[in-house]
Amino acid sequence: IQRIGVYTSGGDAPGMNAAIRAVVRTALYNNIKVTGIYRGYEGMIEGDFKEMVSRSVSSILQKGGTILKSARCPEFRTPEGRKKAYDNVKEAGIDALVAIGGDGTFTGADIFSKEYDIPVMCIPGTIDNDLYGSDYTLGFDTANNTVIDAIDKIKDTAASHNRLFFVEVMGRDSGCIALNAGVAGGAEAILLPEKDTAIDELIDMLETAKDQNKTSMIVIVAEGDKNGGAYHVAQRVNEKFDYFDTKVSILGHLQRGGSPSSFDRVLATRMGYFAVNELLKGNRSATVGIRGSKIISTTLEEALRGKEFKLDEELVTISQVMNI
Ligand code: ATP
Repeated sequence: IQRIGVYTSGGDAPGMNAAIRAVVRTALYNNIKVTGIYRGYEGMIEGDFKEMVSRSVSSILQKGGTILKSARCPEFRTPEGRKKAYDNVKEAGIDALVAIGGDGTFTGADIFSKEYDIPVMCIPGTIDNDLYGSDYTLGFDTANNTVIDAIDKIKDTAASHNRLFFVEVMGRDSGCIALNAGVAGGAEAILLPEKDTAIDELIDMLETAKDQNKTSMIVIVAEGDKNGGAYHVAQRVNEKFDYFDTKVSILGHLQRGGSPSSFDRVLATRMGYFAVNELLKGNRSATVGIRGSKIISTTLEEALRGKEFKLDEELVTISQVMNI
């Protein structure tokens, strides 16, 4: 391998910059050149490339977002789009890729790598933590810390006014942030896209909490909950349960930004280092992940077509037990 191309794609996540830095520096350490590909597959198709030297990644470790920018690129789904991308990649002398993103990014990388026989390592960067092959994805820990910071603040005001707060957090298909932040923030109930909790069931939980003389309550609603979002849930709960003043807070995009936590920085650095070393060892198609405390690789075949990512059922039970 003479030159690695690195890019970020799909939704941005804190820790992506730390991963870019680790890829660049590990490659340079091994006398391999690095090209930064801007805006993911869009930049690959347009040839938006930049030579990366060690100083190109100075002082980015602590920054959220991605210095290489990100994009969604429908054209890369077509063979014609990928051909344009390959011509640019070849012309730039790139003979291996490191992709940082979510499952869409991995799927694109998988197809491209097979079509043009180019090795690729994928690093999981998404706050949703919903990728098979890694216990944690980059950005998840930071997003959780942001959410519990908000919950703690909301709890202060909820307790002062005897309020019932519905806090909507990110997670269209994955309830990981809602579940973790709900447990860490001591929520009275958590609505998850995977669970389909009925409104009457939720009201029963709130009645139980009320009977325990709670003076305020927090319900975490994942944005993909089947009941249709925090406002809708609040309205329907209010029709039958009106002991408390009800408020809704939608945390939105602030959950995606911010300086990565220590955990995400170290994880990103380990994953970037590992990805480059796997390419050097001849690994041609895999995702990087953490299992327990070990960094591992999973073939793209298994990661994309193997088992589905599953929510931690034990943590769901624990969240319920904590509300006794
Ligand atoms: P997140 O889930 O965090 O938003 P993601 O990587 O899953 O991240 P997507 O928008 O699904 O985000 O995918 C990113 C890009 O990957 C797409 O815009 C597209 O360019 C490429 N891609 C996704 N699926 C395919 C596919 N089937 N074939 C080719 N390219 C694809």
